[in-house]
Amino acid sequence: MDYQEIWRAVLGEIELQISRPNFLTWFKGSQLIEKDEKEGKVLIGLPNQFAKEWVKNKYHKLILGVLRQMDSSIKQVDYVVINQYLNKHSQVSSKITQKLKTKSTVSPQPNIQPSLIELKIDPKTNLNPQYTLENFVVGSSNELAYAAVNAVIKDIGRKYNPLFIYGGVGLGKTHLLQAAGNKIVEEYKQKIKVLYISSEKFISDVITAVRNKRMEDIKQKYRNVDVLIIDDIQFIGGKPTTELEFFYTFNALYENQKQIIISSDRPPAAIPTLEERLRSRFEGGMIADIGYPDYEMRLAILKTKAQQQGWLPEEKILELIASRIQSNVRELEGVLNKVIFYQQYKKENLDLKKVENIINETIRAFSKNITANDIIKAVSEFYEISPNDLINRSRKQEVVEPRQVAMYLLREILKMSYPNIGEKLGKRDHTTVIHAWEKINYEINNNPSFSQKIMLIKERIYKK
Ligand code: ADP
Ligand code: MG
Repeated sequence: MDYQEIWRAVLGEIELQISRPNFLTWFKGSQLIEKDEKEGKVLIGLPNQFAKEWVKNKYHKLILGVLRQMDSSIKQVDYVVINQYLNKHSQVSSKITQKLKTKSTVSPQPNIQPSLIELKIDPKTNLNPQYTLENFVVGSSNELAYAAVNAVIKDIGRKYNPLFIYGGVGLGKTHLLQAAGNKIVEEYKQKIKVLYISSEKFISDVITAVRNKRMEDIKQKYRNVDVLIIDDIQFIGGKPTTELEFFYTFNALYENQKQIIISSDRPPAAIPTLEERLRSRFEGGMIADIGYPDYEMRLAILKTKAQQQGWLPEEKILELIASRIQSNVRELEGVLNKVIFYQQYKKENLDLKKVENIINETIRAFSKNITANDIIKAVSEFYEISPNDLINRSRKQEVVEPRQVAMYLLREILKMSYPNIGEKLGKRDHTTVIHAWEKINYEINNNPSFSQKIMLIKERIYKK
C-alpha cells in the first residue's frame, strides 16, 4: 500500500468521525508525505500554515489514533506545510517527493485517478471530474432526471430550459449536475463555457458585490457563460437582494438561449420564501425529481463504488448493506468505505455480524438528531452566557454576537425558517434574522479568526 492509499484510508475513517464542513475545511489538500519505518514517524503535509496549526492542535489525537489502529508501529506524527517542505527538500530525489512536486506545481494530469485527497476541481468551471454520467447508476428513481440531463446536453439552451432537478439529501443531485457539466465540457471542449456554483457561493458573491459596490463583478462572472449550473437553489429563498440579482442573471442567460440547470431539495412550489416571478420561471422549464433508490439500484450503486475503489467485497456483504441502508446514497458509501478499509488494510475477515455493527455505527453517526436546543446550548456554553439571554429579549451588548451566531447556525444546520428563528430567539422580526445571517456569513468569509470560532461552536454541536 503506498502513502496515498494509507492516507485515503485514514481520511475515510476521519470523515466518519467529524462533521462534514470540518472535514472538507481541514483535510482537503492534506497528504501523507513521509513515513519513517524505523522510527515509526509519519509526516503529514497541509496546504498552508493555518491549516497546519489547526489540524495539529485540533485533530492530532484523532489522526494518531486512526494511524495507530492501522499500523501499531507508528509512534509519532508531525505536520508540515507542503510547499515549505518541497522547497526545503527540492534536492531530495525520493520518488514520493517527485510525485508530490509534480502534483502541486504542475497543472493537473488528466490521467491521475481522482481521489478524495486531490479533489481536482477545475477552478474555471468548479467541476470535479470524479462525477461522471458513466459512474452514475440509473434506475427508476432517477431515470427521468437522467434522461432530461442527456436531452439538455444534446440541445443546450433550447430543449429544456431551465432544467430543475429536485430530491432529498444524498440522492445524487450534485453528482448528476456535476456530471452534466463534465459531459458538456468533454463534448463541446472550449466552445461552451460551463460554470457550476452552489447557491451559497452565489449568495455570498452577491453580498460581497453589494458591499463593495461592484455589481459589475456579478454580471461579468455569471452572465458570461453558456451553461450555468446552480446547486441547492433552495437557500436563495428569502434573500431578496440575491433573489433579484439571480432573477436578472437568469433572464439575461435565458434570453440569450443559454442553458440553466438548477437543483433543489424540494420543488419550486415548496420553497416557501421564493419570489413568485422566480418560481414561475423555474416552473416554465423542465422539472424532474430524484427519489429513493430501490434495493436493486442500491446494490448496483455499491458495486459501482466498490469497483471505483478497486475492491469488491463479497456479494453477501453488499446485499446486507443494500438491504439495511435505504434512504441515503452517501450513507451507503460511508458503510462501504469502512468495510473496504477493514478488509483491505486491516486484512480483517469480515463476517456479516461485523458488517452489521459497521452499519449500525454509521446509521447512528448520520442520524445524530440535532435540535434547536442543542445549538442554543452550544452557543451559550461557548460564549459563557446563559441560554436564557439568547432566548429572552435581552439587549445586553454581550449577547448580540452570540444571538446572531445562534440565528445563523439554526438556519445553516436545521434550515429553520427566518420567522421561526426570530420567534425562538428573543421574538425578533425575520428581517433581523436575515441581517444576522448576512453579517455572520460575511464575517466567516472575511475574517479567519471569526470563522475559526464558528468551527469550534459547530464542533461542540456535533460532539454532543
Ligand atoms: P445530493 O447532492 O443529492 O445531496 P450527492 O450528489 O452529493 O447528493 O450524492 C451523494 C453521494 O452518493 C455521492 O458520492 C454520489 O456520487 C453518490 N450517488 C448518489 N446517487 C448516485 C447514483 N445514482 N449513482 C452513483 N452514485 C450516486
Ligand atoms: Mg448536493
